[in-house]
Amino acid sequence: MHKAAEAVYQDVLRRNPAEPEFHQAVAEFLNSIGPVLDEHPEYADHALLERLVEPERQIIFRVPWIDDSGKCQVNRGYRVEFNSALGPYKGGLRFHQSVNRNIIKFLGFEQIFKNSLTGLGIGGGKGGSDFDPHGRSDNEVMRFCQAFMSELYRHIGQFTDVPAGDIGVGGREIGYLFGQYKKLTNRFEAGVLTGKKLGWGGSLGRTEATGYGTVMFAQSMLGTISEGLEGKSVAVSGSGNVAIYAAQYAQMKGAKVLTVSDSNGWVYDKDGIDVELLQQVKGVERGRVSDYAQRKSGAVFHAEGRPWQVAVDVALPCATQNELSQEDAKTLVSNGVKVVAEGANMPCTPGAIDAFQQAGVLYAPGKAANAGGVATSALEMEQNASRTKWTFEQVATKLEHIMADIHDTCAETAARYGAEGNYVLGANIAGFKRVADAMIDQGFI
Ligand code: GLU
Repeated sequence: MHKAAEAVYQDVLRRNPAEPEFHQAVAEFLNSIGPVLDEHPEYADHALLERLVEPERQIIFRVPWIDDSGKCQVNRGYRVEFNSALGPYKGGLRFHQSVNRNIIKFLGFEQIFKNSLTGLGIGGGKGGSDFDPHGRSDNEVMRFCQAFMSELYRHIGQFTDVPAGDIGVGGREIGYLFGQYKKLTNRFEAGVLTGKKLGWGGSLGRTEATGYGTVMFAQSMLGTISEGLEGKSVAVSGSGNVAIYAAQYAQMKGAKVLTVSDSNGWVYDKDGIDVELLQQVKGVERGRVSDYAQRKSGAVFHAEGRPWQVAVDVALPCATQNELSQEDAKTLVSNGVKVVAEGANMPCTPGAIDAFQQAGVLYAPGKAANAGGVATSALEMEQNASRTKWTFEQVATKLEHIMADIHDTCAETAARYGAEGNYVLGANIAGFKRVADAMIDQGFI
């Protein structure tokens, strides 16, 4: 690690104890930016890096709500407003039992550079709660969302901070959150949340955007070795919004998706995942991938192991952080994987990334490969601000251009700093430069 970066990292460890995922995200970033600090010493000046690793604001609040049996439940809510150099804080809300300050900080930190890479005017933030919507009735989810927004509303706004979905937060939750924001503020401020349903300010293509964008990015990576998706085998993990639409788009482009997963296990489907059935089981019925396997002939459910044991050309981890270990990466490498693109945030452990890079596998971090979701959120904000609605094709064409630009920016930046094919270095340096320049322009704030 560059000397200036190392000093900042030691400070981060000391000042943020017991936050391993946050440390991991910061280390990956600081490990990449040495070459640009050598070239531009001003980036290590005026505590720029020290300011970058310190959120501008962190909000933690109590969320009391009444469950269906009439009992009061208490969860904890978070919003980390990390960096507003490029625009209002922007990033999703995650509702999952694993959520704590560490998780929200790692996600918020990643979001700064992801949002910068989109080239659009969005800063970085993230939020959520340790509330788990699984097994809760619609009314319970509504009461929780209302209680959550009863505090959050005072901190957000279309020019301040614009939350969206993430794990456990989809169109249903965004609807309840928006309703409560509108009731409390007496404003139909469409641009305060993204991922809205289509009838009242949502954008066509937003639901598909993260998964589609990840596959578009993988296509560009394959393009650098003069290959395409046609006829390729693909392993996808997860079975939420990102995984479903990654599988759909990969198959639209002629690949065969052999796996999906959830926290109980994974499915191997030799004939290729039936995305419509998966949508029905997971999206509509809120079931499990084991239910999918029961209803699809030829599909097999495994409670043990991971999708990464299947021999594939392309791996798309679309579930959650640190889901793909060094051992998994070595298995994928020995089975001949060519491209790994992250649909989730930080799904590969540092050891896994090393294994891919050492083997010459093309590997793209989530902050580049999954940026299509937040980019399309910015397109939703644009439509809300101008009170217009674009067609699906208009949004999809913009998304294609944005993903191709992010790919080329990462590839060119890596090559320019002598690390051809290193998308980690390319994404971190390119994302960092835009934010750093804006922070320098705006003074010591
Ligand atoms: N949660 C998504 C992400 O990780 C989307 C955020 C957004 O649309 O604001 O980028």
